[in-house]
Amino acid sequence: MTEIEKRQDRSPVPSAFDYAPAPESREIVTLEDRYGLFIGGEWVEPQSGEYEATISPATEEPLAEVAYAGPEDVGVAVDSAREAFENGWSDIAPGERAKYLYRIARILQERSREFAVLESLDGGKPIRESRDVDLPLSAAHFFYYAGWADKLEYAFPNRNPKPLGVAGQIIPWNFPLLMLSWKIAPALAAGNTVVLKPAESTPLTALLFCDVVRQAELPPGVVNIVTGDGRAGAELVKHPGVDKVAFTGSTDVGKEIQRAVAGTGKKLTLELGGKAANIIFDDAPLDQAVEGIINGIYFNQGHVCCAGSRLLVQESIYEQVIAKLKRRMGTLRVGDPLDKNTDVGAINSREQLEKIKELVAAGEEEGAEIFQPPCRLPEKGWWFAPTVFTNVAQSYRIAQEEIFGPVLSVLTFRTPDEAIEKANNTPYGLSAGVWTEKGSRILSMAQRLRAGVIWANTYNRFDPASPFGGYKESGFGREGGRHGLEPYMRFE
Ligand code: NDP
Repeated sequence: MTEIEKRQDRSPVPSAFDYAPAPESREIVTLEDRYGLFIGGEWVEPQSGEYEATISPATEEPLAEVAYAGPEDVGVAVDSAREAFENGWSDIAPGERAKYLYRIARILQERSREFAVLESLDGGKPIRESRDVDLPLSAAHFFYYAGWADKLEYAFPNRNPKPLGVAGQIIPWNFPLLMLSWKIAPALAAGNTVVLKPAESTPLTALLFCDVVRQAELPPGVVNIVTGDGRAGAELVKHPGVDKVAFTGSTDVGKEIQRAVAGTGKKLTLELGGKAANIIFDDAPLDQAVEGIINGIYFNQGHVCCAGSRLLVQESIYEQVIAKLKRRMGTLRVGDPLDKNTDVGAINSREQLEKIKELVAAGEEEGAEIFQPPCRLPEKGWWFAPTVFTNVAQSYRIAQEEIFGPVLSVLTFRTPDEAIEKANNTPYGLSAGVWTEKGSRILSMAQRLRAGVIWANTYNRFDPASPFGGYKESGFGREGGRHGLEPYMRFE
């Protein structure tokens, strides 16, 4: 052995570097032991008398007890919203309405660290994402719709837009505060009042939002928050005092809601599931595309309706892309959502973890090849390692069904036509991604893909000015942009 070889052998440099823990402090959040319902600008005890604990998915520790609204509670909340609508909010000068929305946006910015920590605590998403994505976008939605509040006649020229009345809004657990903002901001800007039901596993940021409503001095009853499970959601949907229902969640519940409102004259928007194709052509910038694939499926643990959960790679670059992807997956850090270095946090609930495991087992049984980078998962809490399946056939369940977890299914194609055919071969139609250096190819693909949102050379990028929504079983109606106001208006 030469001197140099000997020295290299005894190199003082460690073979692997690790990150020191960088946890965000929980101190900024003050939790109550128990939360009531927020109705008419006040906290009220639920008439149902029911409370359930909300659990931290990373530690399984109960965080607080939250009221479960019964039918009477939902009725009181709808009456309160109706009264607020008729006694002031719908007649208030639009410029004044705008000021309330601006105030809410500013307060969200000022308290963003508190909200971000609470969102990660209650839902399991990495603090990096709640801090850099959920919170800035939530505030941006309120700013954006504040801008429209006094310009509705310009948004809809010659149509004399009027508010609808009371909006019943039901949101899921994957982006709790952001979905609340997507729903409440346009509804208020258009002059409606709202009753909103958060998901049972992530109610805490909606409850903290009640404090923002109070701070902004919004008139009582304009925003009411009723916590509870699916029963409270169903009550809200069927309540005769509700003029408009806005729902984000699973396709099955969306169908149930559509049946429940049929023939009632209530307006409805549904934002449901997806099984998006992320399509990589052989002329794409591969390193950027690999980042886009990672962001497309492992962002928010894959709990994203528009996640790029089906990767379509052009055959000629398949080996290269998969090798780069696996290498990049090996650098993802899974663990404590409050650690600023974490890329992949906890799975939102035990039920969701079971669903992911069941579909992954089905993928293995059907013959797909599984890869998971070596990573140590915490002992307590609900976790799933970033996963990729290769050798996937179109007919496999993992290529057809929404997994809603950090699991990617890879398929290949040879020609643009084949890519279109495979991408559109799904009951969903929410989103898609196209990676190529040719602008003309982007345009021709975008025209032929049956999806509401198509990203080109990027993925999971959102902006309040841009409408979002689906085709087919992904639902109907648009949220965001000027389009997002229309479902909250009638025209005379
Ligand atoms: P759900 O559709 O059940 O939940 C969404 C919201 O609807 C929650 O607030 C829920 O309440 C409420 N809800 C449940 N049942 C009813 C009902 N009959 N009437 C009115 N509201 C109701 O989604 P899950 O949480 O059960 O998730 C199941 C699957 O749905 C996931 O695995 C994923 O595939 C998909 N999903 C898609 C989302 C999307 O953004 N497109 C978001 C969430 C899930 P509660 O949770 O309190 O029971």
